Amino acid sequence: MTAQREWFEKDYYQVLGVAADASAKEITKAYRKLARELHPDQNPNNAAAEERFKEVSSAYDVLSDEAKRKEYDEVRRLGPMAGGGGPGGFSFNVGDVPGGDISDLLGQMFGRGRSGGAGRAGGGVGPHRGADVTAHLTLDFADAVRGIETTLHLTSDAQCSTCNGSGARPGTQPSRCGVCGGRGVVDDNQGLFSFSSPCRACQGRGSVVTDPCPTCRGGGVERRPREVRARIPAGVSDGQTIRLKGRGAPGRNGGPAGDLLVEIAVTPHPRFGRSGNNLTVTVPVTFAEAALGGVIDVPTLDGGPVALRLRPGTQSGSRHRVKGKGIEMPAKRGSTGAGDLIVTVEVQVPTQLTDEQRAAIQQLAAATTVDPRVVP
Ligand SMILES: [Zn+2]
Ligand SMILES: [Zn+2]
Repeated sequence: MTAQREWFEKDYYQVLGVAADASAKEITKAYRKLARELHPDQNPNNAAAEERFKEVSSAYDVLSDEAKRKEYDEVRRLGPMAGGGGPGGFSFNVGDVPGGDISDLLGQMFGRGRSGGAGRAGGGVGPHRGADVTAHLTLDFADAVRGIETTLHLTSDAQCSTCNGSGARPGTQPSRCGVCGGRGVVDDNQGLFSFSSPCRACQGRGSVVTDPCPTCRGGGVERRPREVRARIPAGVSDGQTIRLKGRGAPGRNGGPAGDLLVEIAVTPHPRFGRSGNNLTVTVPVTFAEAALGGVIDVPTLDGGPVALRLRPGTQSGSRHRVKGKGIEMPAKRGSTGAGDLIVTVEVQVPTQLTDEQRAAIQQLAAATTVDPRVVP
């Protein structure tokens, strides 16, 4: 018997004959009085008195220590949690529970809180969340920018299509569990206290399948190709994973479904690139346009070209911003809405010249007085 189990079963306050909110002084006083009365020297060959004396000593040992008393009160409040519970008892490690949530654990112990959640009760009965399923999706550049509603094709555990997840052969019904009488929980008497735990015979469902579905053999789940409609938000990027809640494998015993994780690949665009929610594009210009300045047309991903004004003396490789022609990300806090189009200007040098062009450039060369390789 573990200390905590003993704590749970013994009311040390009653042993010492004090109230549960007794002060340290009152506890010491009560103990001294009882210890004097029950001391073996005063009660030779009295087994009952000896037993009482031991009880009183253990009670005082716990209640006189402020920390131990606090722990004792907690154990009394919560139940016999710790250590191997012995036959028919409970054996948990709080560390086994996701998040170590004791109230959740107790909820299961007492047959409450079985509405779902990731919790689990000893040995795999009770609701289980379905597994997360991963799917791959390749989008072309424009679809990734704009967002798209698409159909994903994947093979995964899904609710059995033959029995709609009931596990029973079509036309038959699961029958009431004989072990728990359909309650899904069984009582476990431990002396003064009675606990409920999920029924192992029916996995906590309250019903058992007597004539199992031929497709899923009673499990209610089959592995099959399925299609999932998914809305991919605007602005997803290559390598990103989108989580679609509750679209993964179905849960068991009333547990929630898992999530569908969509891994996105984006095929590159022949002209446009991306930088966050900005689009990038490189636009060739002539030497004359760069030197003299002017208005050029630049392409956009959506719709027709827009005008971009270049100052005289625009440099090759310089970058220019066209406001609001980038990627319109879904509204989120702190977002500024649409991104911009970043245009990189690239001066093109002609590879073939007409006589007229050659003459004009030679004239330009003759008029050039600055050597670009000499630092002024
Ligand atoms: Zn089935
Ligand atoms: Zn049952």
